[in-house]
Amino acid sequence: MALACPRCKDHHQVLDLPEFWKSLPRESELRGKYAQPAEYAAQWLLPVGAAVLGVVLLVAGQVAGGLLLLAGGAGLGFWFSRLASAAEEARERWARSMYCRQCPATFLREDAVTV
Ligand SMILES: [Zn+2]
Repeated sequence: MALACPRCKDHHQVLDLPEFWKSLPRESELRGKYAQPAEYAAQWLLPVGAAVLGVVLLVAGQVAGGLLLLAGGAGLGFWFSRLASAAEEARERWARSMYCRQCPATFLREDAVTV
């Protein structure tokens, strides 16, 4: 039993994508194409700054502005954390991906056909 490509059904040239990527020469154009997706670098200072400023305004008696900034900071923080987890998921998918040198195709390990 071997894992085969779901597209061309060949199993002789199927590799783990991370392994294939590491085997590529440094100058290969494919290194960029098949690289692991980048981690999401969130600008956490922005939502934190907005929330801190919101608290300052609240303490100073500027309730409407303070609440607006707090809500904005929370919204941004939530949005950033969604982006960060989406990026993390893309990285995990890459780690479980396989590459077929025959067609060439990339596919998830669980989508491979067994022959
Ligand atoms: Zn294939």
